[in-house]
Amino acid sequence: MKAARLYGKGDLRVVDVPVPDVEEGGMLLRVRAATVCGTDLRMFANGSAGIDEEHPLTLCHEFSGTIEKLGKGVSGYEAGQRVSVAPNIGCGICGMCVSGDSHHCKELRAFGVNIDGAFAEYVGIPAAAVANGNVTPIGENVSFEAAAANEAFACVYNSFERYGVNPGDTVLIIGAGAIGMMHAGLALMAGAAKVILNDLSESRLAECKAIEPRIITVSKDLKEAVDIETGGAGANVVITACSVAAVQESAFDYAALNGRVNFFGGLPAGKDARLDTNQIHYKQLQVSGTTRSSHGHYRKTLEFISKGLVDVDALVTGRYPIDSVRQAFDNAAQQKGLKQAIVFG
Ligand SMILES: [Zn+2]
Ligand SMILES: [Zn+2]
Repeated sequence: MKAARLYGKGDLRVVDVPVPDVEEGGMLLRVRAATVCGTDLRMFANGSAGIDEEHPLTLCHEFSGTIEKLGKGVSGYEAGQRVSVAPNIGCGICGMCVSGDSHHCKELRAFGVNIDGAFAEYVGIPAAAVANGNVTPIGENVSFEAAAANEAFACVYNSFERYGVNPGDTVLIIGAGAIGMMHAGLALMAGAAKVILNDLSESRLAECKAIEPRIITVSKDLKEAVDIETGGAGANVVITACSVAAVQESAFDYAALNGRVNFFGGLPAGKDARLDTNQIHYKQLQVSGTTRSSHGHYRKTLEFISKGLVDVDALVTGRYPIDSVRQAFDNAAQQKGLKQAIVFG
């Protein structure tokens, strides 16, 4: 089968490899859609510990497909079933895992991060992933592409649970990408009166506005724009959906009294931000950060997609065969389009 494997920094090759064996209690998945995430781009650009010429790794942690083969002893699933697979595999028995937070397990294994992922025709699903509920059946009304991109959506929902949106809130999202649009979708679903999307790129804002006309787009003079939209009160929720320190440093400036600020995007390793903590104090701000998502989040957002509450399909703007995976990466890195998907016939 074909697989896109990372052999080191900047070295991604589409190679022929054997179809993975099916382990007892596990399954073999025929991949139908696999979406490109910032994590893939970072691993490609910077390399990753343990990945080299002798130890290549198939990338991709956002994927869906059909069950090709069930391992011995697996029940509750059947061959041919359409499924979406959450990437984080916990040990199943530690405190984090039993609390439902297996994405913070110390023994964490993750597809496309430290075990082979889904930029491949087939991916082996380990027994622990099957036993721990990583595999979720999806209905015909959920596309494979949306089911793959759901991994990002689940991470956004993890954040949403922290910052919360009340009916009538004004929500400011900084960073117009698929992630920003997922925050916008949840905010609108929760009854936000105004959703302001900010980005330096006018073309990216226009692309987002075409998908969701209810958002207010702002490319410059953000403070002024927020003041106009809120009568000087500020935004109830501010989300930084990008990895820029200066954005984190200015986020409190846009927040209303009793506002909530969420740092969704992490900063590149070694970078930090200087925060004006007096704004937290005097405006009584709640500041949160989140990373990854639980199986609970993953299933919840699949439900939102299935019920038509947020249009994730519209965010998948590029489709490529596996041979063009480098093109998909280049376009994602250059922010051409919102979400790139590798699709298999
Ligand atoms: Zn992702
Ligand atoms: Zn664990």
